[in-house]
Amino acid sequence: MQIFDRYLDLLEWMDGKGLPSRVLGCAPDGSPIVCIQSGGEKGPAIFISAGSHSTEQAGVGAVAALLETLETDHPVYVIPTRDPMGMNGFPYVLGLSLGKEPDLHSEEDLEGLLREHGEVLYEEEDILLTLIGEYGYATRGLYGRFEKGAAFLEPLIGRRIFFPSLSDGIEGTAPFQRAYTLIVSPEGEVLHINRFHDTSWAPVESRCTRDLMADIQPGLTLDLHEYGGNAFWFSARHQQSEEDEMWEQRMADAMIQAVAKSGAALEEGRPGSFFEATESGVFWLIAQERGEGLNLADFAASEYGPAFTIETGMQNGYQDRVNTSVLAAQTAIDVFEQRYAQR
Ligand SMILES: [Zn+2]
Repeated sequence: MQIFDRYLDLLEWMDGKGLPSRVLGCAPDGSPIVCIQSGGEKGPAIFISAGSHSTEQAGVGAVAALLETLETDHPVYVIPTRDPMGMNGFPYVLGLSLGKEPDLHSEEDLEGLLREHGEVLYEEEDILLTLIGEYGYATRGLYGRFEKGAAFLEPLIGRRIFFPSLSDGIEGTAPFQRAYTLIVSPEGEVLHINRFHDTSWAPVESRCTRDLMADIQPGLTLDLHEYGGNAFWFSARHQQSEEDEMWEQRMADAMIQAVAKSGAALEEGRPGSFFEATESGVFWLIAQERGEGLNLADFAASEYGPAFTIETGMQNGYQDRVNTSVLAAQTAIDVFEQRYAQR
């Protein structure tokens, strides 16, 4: 699968598939947040999304690949990327406030531009946070760095903060090729687009996702992500009913076995203290231990049915990561089909 540099490239590619699509809403820059439908008509529906963190591009590629190869009788609703603005990269989002896309070649370039055009809100060591126009721009990642409600965040309440991808050697996410989008909640908490699924205030991207889910009532939700390591893992939240729980476990077992068999490495360590590890690569959310509200899969799991956050390791090549993500998703869907085969 190709790497999509810009959101328009992705939309054009999707258009070329001739599948029905609908616009769920528009991001603040006017980018349509699009849902594409494939599959059959047998309920319940499947929901697949990717790209809520724009630096995690193999998920986006995997969604595209799935649209080409997926075979199921169930309707499949796909949001190929949940952050169109961030996907377009850091020069793009900075250009929204500057009037044109700047040339950015180094962190020094970036810092210079932010100081020249922005109001400095926060500065410490290697981090500079400025306000330019409608948006906050930072030189580096800020997630988890600030106290909730810090006074300097006041001008950014309800707004976005972008910071650039900076790591070398990540195929699909070169330095500045993507802008990671942070959202400052009404309470002054710096979160991101994979939050706000269960809060009354939410950025438009999260509202689009939850409205779609309310409409289609997905019996299976797959959210494709990546992390900075070199292995595969997924997380889920235990289901409430015995039948859901049984099928969720079957999907989990089948996914991890299929990925292990493919030769991909499985993540050994727990990716957070709020997960319970049952085996390598399989992590169950301990919901009460994580603050911040629900991510998409947690929300889907608590409202609609089994749901998985699938993670591939960005240290591997793009095509490998896409293939692993596709394999995991297809395997979960195969088990999901078995569940409803007799009905
Ligand atoms: Zn992610």
